[in-house]
Amino acid sequence: MGFALNDDDREFARWVGGCAAALVAEPSVVPPAGPGRVDRPLLRRLAGLGLLPALFPGTHGDGPLREAPAIRLCLLREHLARADTHAETALALQGLGAYPVLQSGTELQRRRWLPAVASGEAVAAFALTEPDAGSDAAALALRAEPGGGGWRLHGEKTWISNAPDADVYTVFARTTPAPGPGASPPSSSPPTATASPDPHWRCSPTTPWATWSSTASPSDRTT
Ligand SMILES: Cc1cc2nc3c(=O)[nH]c(=O)nc-3n(C[C@H](O)[C@H](O)[C@H](O)COP(=O)(O)OP(=O)(O)OC[C@H]3O[C@@H](n4cnc5c(N)ncnc54)[C@H](O)[C@@H]3O)c2cc1C
Repeated sequence: MGFALNDDDREFARWVGGCAAALVAEPSVVPPAGPGRVDRPLLRRLAGLGLLPALFPGTHGDGPLREAPAIRLCLLREHLARADTHAETALALQGLGAYPVLQSGTELQRRRWLPAVASGEAVAAFALTEPDAGSDAAALALRAEPGGGGWRLHGEKTWISNAPDADVYTVFARTTPAPGPGASPPSSSPPTATASPDPHWRCSPTTPWATWSSTASPSDRTT
């Protein structure tokens, strides 16, 4: 099977390369909050250059909110990473944390979070990994139970990039028994919940990828 970029993709790649060059040419004068903390000034610069909105076509009223085509995501990340891996990671994490909201969130959640993530005003995180569930994501054990008008989460996540600073987390949780002797495997993918930070969450902010445990009650849920 042949593969080649079309003219639009090549033009897009050139545009990303130009943005990346501008980013490197004018390093931010505002330092991040500290080692391992989210670089919010950088996110706002990525938004100002149009790179973050490119993750979420439609956030500026140019048609319905939709995913960027996979080829565009690759070009964005490749050309940004070539210039600045820190910036590329920041951009990728915004997409990773917010795409589940785009794909499966309620209309309210999409309107609440996606424009904010695309403008760099809100920081997103993707919380899948647990101490005993890494590559084998189906082994995740963090439970979601109805409660408090939303869902109450019981369990622990680890290696969550952008924690503890993120404003919105996509949390993968279990509503069925964990796989094991006597338990049935879940019949579908684990559900996800989006949650804003809650005072009940405990985070050890000693590393950029903090261990994070929660008994929070997110106000809404996506599946
Ligand atoms: C810098 C960093 C940032 C991260 N950020 C996030 C984040 O934001 N959100 C999040 O949810 N997670 C995050 N993670 C976690 C990351 O996604 C996990 O490390 C990953 O899922 C692997 O899980 P694990 O470390 O438990 O390794 P394991 O799953 O224990 O795997 C260990 C090794 O065994 C291999 N292996 C596993 N299963 C098999 C198999 N069936 N066959 C052959 N080989 C196998 C793997 O390839 C690997 O080499 C981050 C990790 C790092 C290092």
